[in-house]
Amino acid sequence: MDAFLIVDFQNDFTPGGALPVAHGDEIAAPINTLLDSFDLVIATRDWHCPDHGSFAGVEVDSEKWRGADPPSIWPEHCVEGTPGAELHPGLEQAKIDVVIDKGQDPTSQGYSGFQDTRLGDLLHERGVDHLFVAGLATDYCVKNTVLDARREGFDVTVVEDAVKGVDVEPGDSERALEEMERAGAHLETSREILAERA
Ligand SMILES: [Zn+2]
Repeated sequence: MDAFLIVDFQNDFTPGGALPVAHGDEIAAPINTLLDSFDLVIATRDWHCPDHGSFAGVEVDSEKWRGADPPSIWPEHCVEGTPGAELHPGLEQAKIDVVIDKGQDPTSQGYSGFQDTRLGDLLHERGVDHLFVAGLATDYCVKNTVLDARREGFDVTVVEDAVKGVDVEPGDSERALEEMERAGAHLETSREILAERA
């Protein structure tokens, strides 16, 4: 059983949003072409409380912080219930079967879709063994979700034309893709995946 996982394709991560990924909106087209090819389509949303510890200016107790990166390094983004946290309007949302909110623990960035969510249980319950992953951003939430999926034993294919990265340092996205490949993930284009599944 295969499933398609769309990571954090939300307004705040696309041009005009609070923490925009350049050309992030452009992944809508390749994602939409794949939606009919999967019986299970899951979208994650970064979904933070207003005083989340990843936000600049929020004071954090360093003893309690358990994030992958230091706290307070990102502008406020994806605050629960705000327009910025909504899934991007370019996405054909009627074809999404399950939405999973992540990043709800204020003491961690919560980059991975598996961290403190029911995603792993859901995939196991539904008999999923191969996960196809798209979304934002390549070098943070996509990477951490893919690495966790590999740790959980799933086959993983990253849809390489349906991910975009932040690139705080030039080359971060490229290095993230290499790290995912070293962990056993495959890279394929949406066109290749469509051809295989036709
Ligand atoms: Zn976040």
